[in-house]
Formats: sequence, structure tokens, C-alpha cells
Amino acid sequence: MSRGADGTAGSPAEDATGWPPAPASTFAHVDDGYDRLWTPHRMAYIDGEAKVTSDAPQECPFCLAPTRADEDGLVVARGETCYVVLNLFPYNPGHLLVCPYRHVGDFTDLTREERYESADLVARAMRVLRAAKAPSGFNLGMNQGPGAGAGVAAHAHQHVVPRWDGDANFLPIIGRTKALPELLADTRSRLAEAWDRLPEEPDGADGPR
Ligand SMILES: [Zn+2]
Repeated sequence: MSRGADGTAGSPAEDATGWPPAPASTFAHVDDGYDRLWTPHRMAYIDGEAKVTSDAPQECPFCLAPTRADEDGLVVARGETCYVVLNLFPYNPGHLLVCPYRHVGDFTDLTREERYESADLVARAMRVLRAAKAPSGFNLGMNQGPGAGAGVAAHAHQHVVPRWDGDANFLPIIGRTKALPELLADTRSRLAEAWDRLPEEPDGADGPR
């Protein structure tokens, strides 16, 4: 028979297996040797709260983000034709997206200038993440079209995901929950500072802030 927070017995209706359990409020503080990782922001994604249901630019998070202040839009750096923003639903802390300002979805729709600058920004994002967070690897890539898993298919965005040895475990698969040890606002300010601090490549190849 389970016991409540004050040591009293649980519900008299409880059966021999201990079911139903005592209300959660009665065992919130009981030390059972486990640390709980609460990641409620993931539920917004799982529930589809932020799911883009239209291709219209006025509903597009990648059109909206650069119109806000850097802190509010989670913008890390701005180039001439493209900018760098934190993924609201990161796979890892420091998961960045490089987007054109223009609302175009397909890589072939990008101008040459946008393609060049986005590649430069990806390179600088890698250098900044290495300086700030010392990952041991990266996943880089673009999901082109809904069939390929693009969440916002109408506005092209390239993922830069820092990776650390052993950063993946069973939790995202079994629990559909990813534990992230840093808040987005803190990640953004840390990376924006690192972006400004990092010297430009000698040939200026990795773009302006
Ligand atoms: Zn857009």
C-alpha cells in the first residue's frame, strides 16, 4: 500500500497491487533516487501548437523572426540576404537554422548571392559553435519539401546541429522527449556574443555579422 506525503495510507479503495496510485501531488517530493527532466516546451511541438498550416508569408516563422529584435526572434546573426536563428524545437542546444530573408522554399529558388551567403553563414555558425560549445561533430542539411520532413517547407532553412559523443539516448525514442540543458534565450545570447567575438576568416568568406 502506498503512502501519502504525510505518511498516511493511500486511498482505502486501493487494491493489493497498489493501484490506483496516490495522487501525484502527494509524492512530488519523495526522494526515489531519480532526477526528473521536465521539458514541457516539447509538448508544444508534439501537440502541433506551432505547426505552420499555411504557406502564406504572414504565417511563416522564418519571415517573422528577422522582423523582431534579435532577443525576441532568437536571431543570432544577420547577413545581407540570409540570417541565422535558433531552432525553436532544437535537437540539441545550439541547433541553428540559416534562412534567406525571402520567402522561398526550394534550394533552386535561391539567388546565387543567397546560396553563397548561406553557405558562408553555415561555415561561420560551425566555427562559432566550436568556439562556444566544443561539439565533436555536426549534422548539416536541408529537408526539401514535406515528403522529406520539412516542418516549414515554404521557407528554405538549413540546419546546423552540433553533436557531442553520446548525446543521443533512448529518451527521444521511447518518451518522445529530448532533454535540453540550456534555455533558448541563454543559448542565443551566448552564440550571438561568440559570433561577434570570432574573427572573420582572412578572405571574409564567412560573412558579416
Ligand atoms: Zn517565410
